[in-house]
Amino acid sequence: MYRQTMICPWLVCIFTSEFNMEPELQIQALSDWLPGFTRPLIISGPCGAESEEQVMQTARGLAQLGRVTIFRAGVWKPRTRPNSFEGRGVKALSWLSRVKAETGMLTAVEVARAEHVEEALRHGIDILWIGARTTVNPFSVQEIAEALKGVDIPVMVKNPIHADIQLWLGALERLNLAGITKLAAIHRGFYTSDKTHFRNIPRWELAIELQTLCPTLPLICDPSHICGRTDTLAAVAQKALDLNMSGLMIESHIHPEEALSDAKQQITPDTLGWLLDGLTIRNTSSDNQVFTDQLEQLRRIIDEIDEELIRTLARRMEVVEQIGEYKRDNNVTVFQLERWLSILRSRLASGVIHGLQESFIKEIYESLHKESIRKQTEISEVKERK
Ligand code: PEP
Ligand code: MN
Repeated sequence: MYRQTMICPWLVCIFTSEFNMEPELQIQALSDWLPGFTRPLIISGPCGAESEEQVMQTARGLAQLGRVTIFRAGVWKPRTRPNSFEGRGVKALSWLSRVKAETGMLTAVEVARAEHVEEALRHGIDILWIGARTTVNPFSVQEIAEALKGVDIPVMVKNPIHADIQLWLGALERLNLAGITKLAAIHRGFYTSDKTHFRNIPRWELAIELQTLCPTLPLICDPSHICGRTDTLAAVAQKALDLNMSGLMIESHIHPEEALSDAKQQITPDTLGWLLDGLTIRNTSSDNQVFTDQLEQLRRIIDEIDEELIRTLARRMEVVEQIGEYKRDNNVTVFQLERWLSILRSRLASGVIHGLQESFIKEIYESLHKESIRKQTEISEVKERK
């Protein structure tokens, strides 16, 4: 549903009503609240504010790069185990005020409770973010949202630790209902028990799904918490830019090896400079007429192929239905393991011959088979009801 209540320059984001959610989210574009915004927005700073000296030295190094807009630092650190470094708390907020006064960078901290919000606001912090461990908890998010009622401050919401897009959306929605319109989402990867070289596995398709549901929501990538190490940061950052994300949040520390939290993933301001130099920033479109014409032509071919695909799928489903009726009339089960395994084997082999990735063909056939089973089950139930 698209209500005509759009107030320019506010942009309206439409949610599906699948989960009976409030269908709209009102979001202000980054360029409305970040004067001079250019893609990608760079947010950097230490995982945790440890001392005034560490904060100031890191901030000066970052300011020298001339392209870090927002200085981040954790002041209250959510730690898995007690007795780890839990942040310096309120006193570190005044260090951030000094960063802003000296360097002109905007400041951002993580908040997890109403009390954090109040202290951050009292100290003139510019931007708040909600961490992955907090996004999972609707009570905490609601508490933060209530504390923000009537306050005009940007809030960035990290994805929850586990891959539940509804929780991510829910947090954004709670803030929006409290009146926060300067919103952004941060993709920082998801917990996985699988052995991978990521600390938190990126789920790019979920970020894209969020973007599809909410086209005006700025998406920022946090390669530091995705990678958990420094040698893969550039590749993940590049991937995020290639997916047209609006910005990057990358942790930096003047002496990464001495960091009290996330030491393995932090880089020096100088290294951040080199990393940013190495990134290719692509255009979202091009003014080149030859390129535009060629792209248009290729897209028309894709449109035709897709039409053909849909017709083929419809024909396949018609045959599936005939088979379903035939099985029903002859009292044969809908699911037949041997047939399914042989379909899968032969289609995978054929896919490989045509240069298609096995996992891709497998996913498509699992989905086709699921739909065929659903259809045939429906057909067999019709008889049972008769
Ligand atoms: C952080 O940004 O330092 C942090 C704690 O991140 P996350 O919430 O993504 O774990
Ligand atoms: Mn961190």
